[in-house]
Amino acid sequence: MSNTQTCRLCLQEKKLIKAHIIPEGFFRLLRSENVAPEMHGNSPGSFPKRMPVGIYDSTILCGECDQRIAPWDDYGQQVLLQRFQEATPITHQARTVAWSLEEVNYTNLKLFFVSLLWRASISSHNFYKRISAGPFEKRLGEMVLASEPGDSQEFAVILARFEDVSMTGMLDPHPEKFDHISFYRFYLSGFVTYIKVDKRPVPEFLSELHLQAGKPLTILTRSLQGSPDGLLMRRIAESALAFRERRKGKIPGQW
Ligand SMILES: [Zn+2]
Repeated sequence: MSNTQTCRLCLQEKKLIKAHIIPEGFFRLLRSENVAPEMHGNSPGSFPKRMPVGIYDSTILCGECDQRIAPWDDYGQQVLLQRFQEATPITHQARTVAWSLEEVNYTNLKLFFVSLLWRASISSHNFYKRISAGPFEKRLGEMVLASEPGDSQEFAVILARFEDVSMTGMLDPHPEKFDHISFYRFYLSGFVTYIKVDKRPVPEFLSELHLQAGKPLTILTRSLQGSPDGLLMRRIAESALAFRERRKGKIPGQW
């Protein structure tokens, strides 16, 4: 094997580094809680059940390109692992259905998810084998290279958090459909993110819940799985919307 390989971002022949795809902080958190990430075995025997350290790929990025992506990785970890504690619960019939986090930088957070999906798509690591953006992969690479987050519908991002702490294991990312629209699901410690890989807009029931510039970030309290009709999600969306209206002072006195 030669000493240099082609970096998938700058396309130059360079010495490639050990690039993390899901940032290490999400694994570190699990380790500090003494919960080793679960490996989801599609091919039994090819992987240990639990991974003691983060997963990296040494065939995709040079050091310079990895450093271009690093600030978005830092921002994603900052928002989900640290700033989440400041999030305001959104309640519906006395239950927390979502959280709202103000002042989130759309560009940085979106580029974290765009670069995460791109890296997972180009990686040949077994952990990411179910992620393949196909015809969308080229566009993802261009967005990463140009630091271009795209509009909120392009690779739209929806976030959820498991209520059950025992569900914080790190399963391998995989495809999923809601109302026939294609998404990829990633597990990030106690969070789940759904990234749309589809030309069509997000389903109606999710239209107020995805990451949008200039709006607070909404994090659902549960995964979307098991809610195929979207009924629960519609209620959450309505509650989230009503919550925002109250915050703006349009409906005073109804906290
Ligand atoms: Zn490079």
